[in-house]
Amino acid sequence: MGYCLFCEKEPTETYFGSFCVNCRKIKNLGNCYEFPRILEILTKCCLRTPEQLENKIDNHKKTKTNDLVDYDKPTTRSKKVIEKSV
Ligand SMILES: [Zn+2]
Repeated sequence: MGYCLFCEKEPTETYFGSFCVNCRKIKNLGNCYEFPRILEILTKCCLRTPEQLENKIDNHKKTKTNDLVDYDKPTTRSKKVIEKSV
């Protein structure tokens, strides 16, 4: 059994196969969604410097706390009825 032609680390899934189990899944995703799209997703989502990752984490934390502090309850039908009667 040889090694996967894609990752070059794992053994191939079958004796005459070219890819390991995980790389076969990646290849199948590429066949379904087109490889340029897969590359675009990976580039936009996964390629970040450690500073960019920290900024993203901080922004996410800020967004979560702001959501809790500045949360306005939506006006429901029952509340509208009360406002009309007053
Ligand atoms: Zn592989």
